[in-house]
Amino acid sequence: MRKQIAAANWKMNLTLQQGAQLLDDIIAKPHDLKEDQLAVFAVPFPYLAMAQQKIEGKKNVFVAAQNCYSKKSGAYTGEVSVEMLQSLGIQYVVLGHSERREYFNESNQLLADKVNICLEYNITPIFCCGEPLSIREANTQNEFVAKQLEESLYHLSAEQIQKIVIAYEPIWAIGTGKTATSAQAQEMHAALRAQLATKYGQEVADNISILYGGSVKAANAKEIFSQPDVDGGLVGGASLIVDEFVAIINALK
Ligand code: PGA
Repeated sequence: MRKQIAAANWKMNLTLQQGAQLLDDIIAKPHDLKEDQLAVFAVPFPYLAMAQQKIEGKKNVFVAAQNCYSKKSGAYTGEVSVEMLQSLGIQYVVLGHSERREYFNESNQLLADKVNICLEYNITPIFCCGEPLSIREANTQNEFVAKQLEESLYHLSAEQIQKIVIAYEPIWAIGTGKTATSAQAQEMHAALRAQLATKYGQEVADNISILYGGSVKAANAKEIFSQPDVDGGLVGGASLIVDEFVAIINALK
């Protein structure tokens, strides 16, 4: 059965010392991750080794990169390959965050290539999707998100797609304090799962974790995560605050 996941997305925040302290403080707090529950920390590239060291031996806790490049190696100055991530023991990578799509022009096609290379190296993509406000206002969000999945994921086999974690993050809810209601999240997550079921069958669809992201915090996590098709969250701002993120981990169902 699918995993329930609390994923922290630090984005481009914190110094090495601050990041180390945050991880120490979060890990020291009591949390009780059940067999099917994971905590994942997506940290900036220069902190991956530090984070990996801190979580060593911690059950169901993982470190993720926030991006990777689509090529194996070579003359791509400034980029980071999945082979490099693998050599650090990294098992997850966030792909296609809306900030990368917007500021770094990442297209659905490029993301399909990134998904492929991650799977080739046995690294789990946390694949982000989600619509801007204009699309939500036009009520065409289901078609918009369906196309993101279609163009980046639906070339995968049934076996491969079950290795993907999907994160639905409506852009209008990211960093704005404006969370989707739990009903809006559930509606989209159910639509995505139905789409996956049409394409790959219900059993495959039921094995795929779909996280919600966008202003998740301690105060709303339990309500959002309690929705039947919401399997946890991808958390930005609140993941930088010890008590907030610990409460979010403990809100997993
Ligand atoms: P937020 O960010 O929790 O600060 O809204 C979520 C994300 O962008 O992953």
